[in-house]
Amino acid sequence: MNILVLNCGSSSLKFQIIETDLDLIENDADRRLASGLLERVVGNALITLQVEGQAKIRETAPLRDHKAAIDYVLRWIVSPNSNINHIKSLADIHAVGHRVVHGGENFTKSVLIDENVIEQIEDNIELAPLHNPANLKGINGARELLGTGVPQVAVFDTAFHSTMPETSYLYALPYQMYRRHRVRRYGFHGTSHRYVAYRYRQLLGIEREKTNIITLHLGNGCSACAIKNGDSLDTSMGLTPMEGLVMGTRSGDVDPSILEFIHLKEGIGMRDIDTMLNKQSGLLGISGLTNDMRELLAEEQEKNDRRARLAIDIFCMRAKKYIGSYLAEMGGADSIVFTGGIGENSAAIRERICKGLEWMGLTIDKEKNGALFGGKEGEISTSDSRLKAFVIPTNEEMLIARDTVRTIKNVPRRW
Ligand code: ADP
Repeated sequence: MNILVLNCGSSSLKFQIIETDLDLIENDADRRLASGLLERVVGNALITLQVEGQAKIRETAPLRDHKAAIDYVLRWIVSPNSNINHIKSLADIHAVGHRVVHGGENFTKSVLIDENVIEQIEDNIELAPLHNPANLKGINGARELLGTGVPQVAVFDTAFHSTMPETSYLYALPYQMYRRHRVRRYGFHGTSHRYVAYRYRQLLGIEREKTNIITLHLGNGCSACAIKNGDSLDTSMGLTPMEGLVMGTRSGDVDPSILEFIHLKEGIGMRDIDTMLNKQSGLLGISGLTNDMRELLAEEQEKNDRRARLAIDIFCMRAKKYIGSYLAEMGGADSIVFTGGIGENSAAIRERICKGLEWMGLTIDKEKNGALFGGKEGEISTSDSRLKAFVIPTNEEMLIARDTVRTIKNVPRRW
């Protein structure tokens, strides 16, 4: 089957077309046929399109909304110019898989989209006001353009974490806050943590139930996940994707009383403080330079910039703290797995996070570590390490495509 995978952000649309099916999944033979990114949707959009194995095409076009963006993508997909293998007309797109950020407590696995599912995703808008409305625009746009005859599946960022016990997901707030308003930890990046755990057990040839690892997704957004016996036991993001690790522009953990303190001192309201924590903090906030880790590493090395170094050091120390606390919570783990743009590409950051963990039995092999970037996977710890470390590139789109097929074909599985 050819699956169109859609990931709609507030002003962007990412897509991939993936050829997959149950037998292809079994043999790891599914593959991407094309991909693209449309930025600045609503306005003069910047568009990047690529047929697998060919050069990227860059263009601009005025786009009214997400539906217009999807329409643009569909027209390109079937146009003779793109000439994508196996795709001649819209009838060759057999299903659509959507990334949906917040599934709340309603969704513990991927589901076939119908009116009822749409209503429930709408119910979760209050939990993810920036993300779920954009995801819904993608769902509604695709339904209008392709017709309801083409099955569509929602794959939730939160679903993998639905196995967390109360001891992980409840905050120590008055219990009514949970009962009345569903205030609890949900966790995000679930599709990434789940994909990486799946690849890990494939690499090592172990069963799902024997997977005991800590996954660190370090990209623009960052999160850690304690995976015990194959399930998410705990994760660093919370009610929203703000909690936990230091991120590109998000603060991660802070003392909640800081909010009122800043409100009183700076005379700014909750909305501005939220913007500060979400958009002006993290690596950008500390360094005062950029949210881009590559640029910070360059500033540190070439100009010896003190605040660039500080931002990187705080980033690495927070990740280390989470490794320590998850090891305690899990009663030990077999491996730490790095993924995401930073985790997959930066040997320096991986080394800095793991430095000082030798007493736990983890020693990084500099040569192996330095050799893994740009989509390569493998072990980066020394062969005698008791606690091992791996790099495994994530592939959320592939998992969304696979879930789409399995959901349509009603293949029972554990999540
Ligand atoms: P997103 O979370 O938006 O999907 P990515 O997973 O692509 O983002 O991660 C983006 C981050 O990865 C940026 O901070 C970028 O600087 C960083 N990154 C990419 N390549 C490298 C590299 N070689 N060294 C250090 N950081 C890198």
